[in-house]
Amino acid sequence: MHEKIQQLSPRLANQIAAGEVVERPASVIKELLENSLDAGATRLEVDVDSGGSKRMKVRDNGKGIDREDLAMALARHATSKIHALEDLEAVATLGFRGEALASISSVARLALTSSRDESGQGWQVSAEGRDMEAQLAPSAHPRGTTVDVRDLFFNTPARRKFLRTEKTEFNRIDETIKRLALSRFDVSISLRHNGKGVHNLRAGTGRVEMERRVAQVCGPAFMQNALHINVERSGLRLWGWVAEPAFSRSQADLQFFYVNGRAIRDKVVSHAVRRAFADVLYHGRHPAFVLYLELDPASVDVNVHPTKHEVRFRDSRLVHDFLFGSLHRALADVRPGQKDESEV
Ligand code: ADP
Ligand code: MG
Repeated sequence: MHEKIQQLSPRLANQIAAGEVVERPASVIKELLENSLDAGATRLEVDVDSGGSKRMKVRDNGKGIDREDLAMALARHATSKIHALEDLEAVATLGFRGEALASISSVARLALTSSRDESGQGWQVSAEGRDMEAQLAPSAHPRGTTVDVRDLFFNTPARRKFLRTEKTEFNRIDETIKRLALSRFDVSISLRHNGKGVHNLRAGTGRVEMERRVAQVCGPAFMQNALHINVERSGLRLWGWVAEPAFSRSQADLQFFYVNGRAIRDKVVSHAVRRAFADVLYHGRHPAFVLYLELDPASVDVNVHPTKHEVRFRDSRLVHDFLFGSLHRALADVRPGQKDESEV
């Protein structure tokens, strides 16, 4: 009988935690990109091989990590983003739990290279599914950070078996990149798969540049059939693009919804959108949209769950009716061949 109570080794604790944060290659990419954005990066370069399971590399031009902090960045519950419980109330970064790098490095071979300045000189720390007996070595690197993740789940064969085909895993990565690309027009983003360029999205926040990016992400046909909307009422603002009903989809694959800049999935939102489109779409068809809801941060709780993109609205009735009303009206205003610019 092994009934003695024992403390989990840090490695095992990290691997268990990794079960929640690191589900598949796309979740690694999401965590790495969020770290880059938290570091103020304006350029993100993503390079993946074999759907990400063989290799994922994210390079940014953010503020970098000090040599002394590099090893710490891989430790569990180690974060530079909050220091006290009060900080949680006002947390403005995408991450703050200090779990991601520790989790990823416990189930993959990870190298973290970073430089704080333009000297061209940086430092690298690496971990191979172990706790960091942190190997620090000098390494050339421009200002910013590169995280190189190889052989995901190499030491957890049971989890590796759950990875789907290269194509499926790559599609999930692509979705992650697209979702992020539509939330940060001010950041340039590139994606390569097996050495081939997939996206190369330039930064720009003017209407023309934003529409160019939407067309790159959602396809030119979406943009050609899109109505631009911009409605503001009772402290709520909804803007973005909805495709005319003629451009409906057989799958719900072109639906991007952001609340205060964060991609979310929410029942209140889905219901309002579905109802707004109900009388203009055939049964089984799905609307396509890229929409941004902006409201007082105090009236929405975004930290319901770290990975599920959920939110909780203080006044969900108000949000529902505003969304439904705005979309329904935008769709009703449309006459074939005519775009609604009345509220731009
Ligand atoms: P969290 O993001 O929750 O703080 P992570 O494990 O994702 O936890 O990252 C740990 C720490 O490593 C971060 O708090 C940050 O200080 C540092 N870090 C990670 N990635 C980067 C990056 N790309 N640029 C600068 N610092 C980074
Ligand atoms: Mg993080």
